[in-house]
Amino acid sequence: MQGIMQDWPLTVNKLLEHAKLINPTREIITRRVSGKIVRTNYAAVYDHSKQVSSALIDEGIGLGDRVATLGWNSARHMESWYGAMGIGAVLHTINPRLLPDQIAWIANHAEDKILIFDITFLPIVEAIKDKLETIKTFVIYAGAEDMPENSLGAVAYDIWIDGRSRDVRWGDFPEDTACGLCYTSGTTGNPKGVLYSHRSNVLHTLVTMSKDAMGMGADDVVLPVVPMFHANAWGLALSCPGTGANMVMPGAQMDGASIYELLDTEKVTITAAVPTVWLLLLAYLRENGLKLPHLKKVIIGGSAIPENILRAFEVEFEVDVVHAWGMTETSPLGTLGTLPPHLMDADIDLRMGQKLKQGRPPFGVELKVVNEAGEELPRDGKSAGTLLVRGAAIAAGYFKGDGGNVLDEDSWFDTGDVANIDEFGTMQITDRSKDVIKSGGEWISSIDIENFALAHPQVANAAAIGVYHPKWDERPLLIIQSAQGESPTKEDILASLEGKIAKWWTPDDVQFIDEIPLGATGKINKLALREHFKDYKLPTA
Ligand code: AMP
Repeated sequence: MQGIMQDWPLTVNKLLEHAKLINPTREIITRRVSGKIVRTNYAAVYDHSKQVSSALIDEGIGLGDRVATLGWNSARHMESWYGAMGIGAVLHTINPRLLPDQIAWIANHAEDKILIFDITFLPIVEAIKDKLETIKTFVIYAGAEDMPENSLGAVAYDIWIDGRSRDVRWGDFPEDTACGLCYTSGTTGNPKGVLYSHRSNVLHTLVTMSKDAMGMGADDVVLPVVPMFHANAWGLALSCPGTGANMVMPGAQMDGASIYELLDTEKVTITAAVPTVWLLLLAYLRENGLKLPHLKKVIIGGSAIPENILRAFEVEFEVDVVHAWGMTETSPLGTLGTLPPHLMDADIDLRMGQKLKQGRPPFGVELKVVNEAGEELPRDGKSAGTLLVRGAAIAAGYFKGDGGNVLDEDSWFDTGDVANIDEFGTMQITDRSKDVIKSGGEWISSIDIENFALAHPQVANAAAIGVYHPKWDERPLLIIQSAQGESPTKEDILASLEGKIAKWWTPDDVQFIDEIPLGATGKINKLALREHFKDYKLPTA
């Protein structure tokens, strides 16, 4: 027997429709690339989003077509999201921190038809324009007054949408229609596309709005420093309209002074970013003897929280820290470190110890840890194994089938993280089985570094691992086994990488060892190397 309830497809346009009707005057405040602060609200963003839809339809874009953005967090970027997603196009957020060639590769792989981007990225787009095989239209987030000269035949966003019809139907498709595309390089090989559906995004939004997750309401003022191009700004571009919270968009400026200014002038109550951003802010606060009287909660994720950041916020600045773990593949929130009830009144060391762990999954996310044989390990807070995840907002595969079948027979997804889980479901990451390095919240390919290092004639074997760095969380350390009778120098090795990898990927140090350890299958044993170098102090630290 079926229930007798309405069919109300879970499509993301409903979130902005709700905001327009229920919280029309709640604001979205943006620091533009020029530095100018501009204010708009959900009613106006809704109207503009409809105009974006009209403009896209006039460009011939419809259901399933990919619309790419290279954009900072801004109200216009939000309008492009809803304008594209509302008509069933797929909003593809491209990460501008990737190498230009990777951006071109991703845009071609996604078969993007149009690219909407911030002025900042004009040099990148112009440099790769001849490599872009499918993008026919370029739109720049600008008005007539600040539209830059360009060789792309690009149009200014404000002019592009101006005067367009707002009479466009949204959400005329099933809830499992593709909605967003985000490539991740947190796996080996080429970046892979995670393809969110309307349903998965709406369910993720409902889950993350709850009190033990991000816990926001219409009276909150939310500053997402985490970029919209990195796993949907942890869902905030969807959950803020869902709740009616004000949004404060930092644009391109994420230094301590700029973030502080927005936190202070806009009386921000909730903010979210990777640890590196908070180090800059904390340094700025201390240098200038400032406090954070309005801020209630800071959500920190993407990398583990260092204890000094946790204690600074909690003790020195009296702001509640919520540690978050997730992945592009998990939409992204997987666990949140809100204190469980039995620890609310515990002493400070116990509470801080709990908050250093990655947290507990909200309803909708299932976690387990397994040993090498795939057997579930006890939930004892000690037994560490591969972390698997399952749920309605977890990827079931990658775009175009890349990477093959990623789920086991019971639909569990292997995160590539190594963790333990305790009796109350608190998950703690202890290592990583995937071979990647995460620096300041962005991935560095260890394999690319190794391959280029191996091309050096005096190198027999090379391994790049991430080691602790106080500012960037991890930085690459390159470990070299020299070829028989050769003794290359650190400078030789680093010089051979120059121009082949992004500057910020350059290893902070090179260490020479007699023999790089190999595992049973002949692969480099990274776990052993990470263990060996776990207390290694980088010269840059
Ligand atoms: P991404 O898909 O780029 O968001 O990266 C996801 C990966 O980042 C996870 O699988 C972890 O390896 C790492 N990560 C994310 N959040 C945390 C955290 N709070 N603590 C430790 N590692 C994290």
